[in-house]
Amino acid sequence: MEQLVDSYGRRIKSMRISVTDKCNFRCTYCMPAEGLPWLKKAEILSYEEIVRVARVAVSIGIEQIRPTGGEPLVRRDVPELVRQLRQLGGLRSLSLTTNGILLKQQAAALAEAGLTRINVSLDSLLREKFTQVARRDQLQGVLAGLEEVKKYPSIHPVKINAVAMKNFSEEEVLPFVQFARDNAFVMRWIEFMPLDADQIWRKEDILSGGEIKAIIEEAYGPLVLITTGDPSETARRYTFSDGIGEVGFINPVSEPFCASCDRIRLTADGQLRTCLFATEETDLRAVLRSDASDEDLAATIRQAVWHKELKHYIGDKRFKRASRSMSMIGG
Ligand code: SAM
Repeated sequence: MEQLVDSYGRRIKSMRISVTDKCNFRCTYCMPAEGLPWLKKAEILSYEEIVRVARVAVSIGIEQIRPTGGEPLVRRDVPELVRQLRQLGGLRSLSLTTNGILLKQQAAALAEAGLTRINVSLDSLLREKFTQVARRDQLQGVLAGLEEVKKYPSIHPVKINAVAMKNFSEEEVLPFVQFARDNAFVMRWIEFMPLDADQIWRKEDILSGGEIKAIIEEAYGPLVLITTGDPSETARRYTFSDGIGEVGFINPVSEPFCASCDRIRLTADGQLRTCLFATEETDLRAVLRSDASDEDLAATIRQAVWHKELKHYIGDKRFKRASRSMSMIGG
């Protein structure tokens, strides 16, 4: 099996594929209230083009694929895309990142198409706070989506991702732990990153994974570290002393994990990004829409990966904001 490596010796195994830049929520840490200028249909990769990139990427070492967005489920026929990706030999994991609001209608089709994992973003279990952050009064719809996913055990694990923000998330740490333990969801907190279109991010607004862990340990006692031996895992994972449930902390700001990063991203308009905070991209759409062969496409991906950024510089004088905000990248 071929391996995709960068110039620092990191092996690249995971590709996030944004299928749309559009979203039906307007989370304050991500998108402006009025939305963004959306890409035109012709600019967006077709499913055929996405599957071609994925097939070539898998043939040279990608093992995990995750469709994302924007909100992936607002694009038509995502289960059909999942079905086609599922058929790529060599793929170990096929996950989806979603805000969950369309899962009530689509979970069955996604399970049937062969989705193996799912990440649902959910920042609050309280209607008012949810509405404040998502700028949509849709908590009940997301909870209904989560209930629906539980009916399909082939989609496992179901992870809940909450963006942790100071003076917002603290009071909900324990309710989220309880919710996750009761429903056999994996609960994860991700530190707020400077990827918001409105540029409201301030270092003081970060609630670190360490602070959240302390809140949990005060109530539950010491958490038990889960070691998987996979250094590229983004989350520090823990279970409880009674063995029930799992929580994880994704700490890109307080504990950057760039040294073991194994990820690349394909934007909805076909640009390959080798770092969330990249300021440059590789235009795969141009390659796809030329008469280039699969070998040419593979060579372009290898070349881009070789130049993968060493690290992001959040909190450092050298930090530069990414060339796009999160919803345009594909988180
Ligand atoms: N719409 C889908 C969703 O809600 O999961 C997929 C796209 S969304 C951009 C992917 C993830 O990025 C979500 O979990 C979201 O919370 C996270 N995200 C967006 N902006 C962020 C920021 N500034 N800092 C940290 N995480 C962010």
